[in-house]
Amino acid sequence: MKINEIFYSLQGEGYWTGTPAVFIRFSGCNLNCSFCDTEHENGRQMTIDNIISEVSKYPTQHIIFTGGEPTLQLNRELIDRLHTLGKYLHMETNGSISLSDGIDKELDWITVSPKDAPVKIQRIDELKVVYHGAEQDMTRFESIPTAGPNSRYLQPCDVKTPETNERIISDAIEYIKRHPQWRLSLQTHKLLGIR
Ligand code: SF4
Repeated sequence: MKINEIFYSLQGEGYWTGTPAVFIRFSGCNLNCSFCDTEHENGRQMTIDNIISEVSKYPTQHIIFTGGEPTLQLNRELIDRLHTLGKYLHMETNGSISLSDGIDKELDWITVSPKDAPVKIQRIDELKVVYHGAEQDMTRFESIPTAGPNSRYLQPCDVKTPETNERIISDAIEYIKRHPQWRLSLQTHKLLGIR
């Protein structure tokens, strides 16, 4: 598997904000979003044994598969090996790839952050939409089914311009007040200056 990085930090976004987790960032993505904030293309080949050994250095049970797009490489063997160690397996995906051989059912949590591609994944425990401001058409996201209540998160996009970021956050707050099925997700790791 080509892995961009494995690191230990706190989950900064969404439902699991504040949870200590080991992040396994897979290299490569099937999309090319203009606002992508991860340099995921680089990476090194790691065997499943290598990955297990790296992950086992940290005390948390919570593992987050991210990317890039993890569904391009994640397989049942890695899932089974980590489950055997008692790990809680959480995947963050753009949702545009339909998972084969029931991998979606094996995972403990799936966060889908849809981009400019149809959502094909079969299970969504948490929907996290990157919000670009009041001009964004939310119709498509409103119709995506999720696993239950309190599972829809609106996350203001960080466009690196303070004034525009302020406007996007303000628009997100107003949208959520009008559509209370959504909750605000902030990138708290950026606010705190951690990874
Ligand atoms: S789907 Fe995510 S990782 Fe892939 S290009 Fe878009 S923002 Fe980057």
